[in-house]
Amino acid sequence: MKEYDVIVIGSGVGMNIVFSALSDGLRVALVDRGDVGGTCLNVGCIPSKMLIYPADRIVEIEGSQRFGINAKIKDVDFSTIMGRMKVPILQGRKFLRREIRNSKDLDFYNKEAYFVDEYTLKIGNELIRGKRIFIVSGSRIAVPPVKGIDEIDYLTNESVLELKKRPRSMIIIGGGYVAAEYAHFFAAMGTEVTVVEMGDRMLRQEEPEVSELLRKELSKRMGIFTNTETVETGRARGGYFVKVRDRLSGRERRLAAAAVMVATGRKSNADLLRVENSGIETDAANYVAVDRFLRTNKENIYAFGDAVGRQMFTHAGDKEAEIAWHNARNGEKREMDFDAVPHAVFTTPQIASVGLTEETAGRDHEILIGKAHYSDTVAGDTMAEKEGFAKAVVEKDTERILGFHIIGPYASILIQEVVNAVANRSSVNSITGCMHIFPALSEIIPEALSNLK
Ligand SMILES: Cc1cc2nc3c(=O)[nH]c(=O)nc-3n(C[C@H](O)[C@H](O)[C@H](O)COP(=O)(O)OP(=O)(O)OC[C@H]3O[C@@H](n4cnc5c(N)ncnc54)[C@H](O)[C@@H]3O)c2cc1C
Repeated sequence: MKEYDVIVIGSGVGMNIVFSALSDGLRVALVDRGDVGGTCLNVGCIPSKMLIYPADRIVEIEGSQRFGINAKIKDVDFSTIMGRMKVPILQGRKFLRREIRNSKDLDFYNKEAYFVDEYTLKIGNELIRGKRIFIVSGSRIAVPPVKGIDEIDYLTNESVLELKKRPRSMIIIGGGYVAAEYAHFFAAMGTEVTVVEMGDRMLRQEEPEVSELLRKELSKRMGIFTNTETVETGRARGGYFVKVRDRLSGRERRLAAAAVMVATGRKSNADLLRVENSGIETDAANYVAVDRFLRTNKENIYAFGDAVGRQMFTHAGDKEAEIAWHNARNGEKREMDFDAVPHAVFTTPQIASVGLTEETAGRDHEILIGKAHYSDTVAGDTMAEKEGFAKAVVEKDTERILGFHIIGPYASILIQEVVNAVANRSSVNSITGCMHIFPALSEIIPEALSNLK
């Protein structure tokens, strides 16, 4: 049996640990059953954002009439857009493979692994043992148990990247951010999109008024059914049917489209890894249970990234990697601040958020709410941005910023100033006390923080 100082399961954000351990001169085993780079590089953030950028440009060009620019898009070359999306994936994999090949202290097992006891993994016919183990095994798509779903070739965030031709029409089952982003993309490409969401709104984790504005804006370009359950799918002439039931009225209807995409969330990979054989505890949803220091219940076994099911974003995983490595290496107890993790939804309009919503903050704090519209700033006016807004959630006594939510152009960039304030537990004055360039969109942040009620 081979023995290692460090075993890393998962080559997504787990690569941070691999590189740190190698630079400390340790013997490392990396295990991954899939392509190096994990979800973000291969089938997540990077390909989706490569596709969304041209989609944003299409929506922008189509909306430019309001400035007196009468532009018409002659043609959208779907295969060029899909081909361009593959470039950074291939480059990223190539880079990682080269780094792996050139690291003499690293063994890469490109296979599925599972625990056979506390510190031992089985990979194919081999057993390996590690002094420290990092479980960074991520998550995979959760497909709902809908009648007939296994009999149709539905698309997922993985198979959608292999499309050669733009589907004429598409039903997207799910209303989270993956569904919203791909709905935006395909609608911009010219596909007739219908979104079917079981809950009462899309993007349930966002502020209700953010979800509502997204629904309003996306509805101009696609059909959106909320409170609607998918009860059956099957083949139909020219594609597929999806039978849905309105959860309020109970009324059923049959939708049809050339393609069906399932984007109904993620599930843990802990089952593949058979973590129960090691005695590692999992939570109710079978994600690996960790404390604030990212330790599992087993000494020297850490877990982070999607594997712990908390804040399932790459930047969160990268931060967690830094903390897990620091704690494992130095025997210290640095905490992961899960409350300061920002996220964005790359639709048009764009959404970005950090910290608590009004509802969640209101449970434990006395709060003030501040709002500003893009149109309250000169830059917002120059863009003729009428609907976008920012919303601040602030603790009344201390004026500490607990949460901030933006929907509108460049939301993912604008939020960063507030991310820093939330992470540093700063008060309103840390932002309103600083100058903001006039006339820049960043003025919307102090504007929202000056309207607290
Ligand atoms: C469509 C989509 C778009 C996204 N967009 C964004 C975005 O814009 N920004 C953002 O921050 N996040 C985004 N995310 C989320 C982001 O991709 C994930 O949070 C991130 O990739 C998680 O990294 P990870 O390393 O924890 O898991 P992964 O990247 O999933 O890595 C886990 C690895 O473990 C391997 N593995 C699992 N089990 C085993 C086993 N038993 N044996 C061997 N190997 C195993 C898997 O093959 C996998 O490669 C997106 C996700 C999706 C699906």
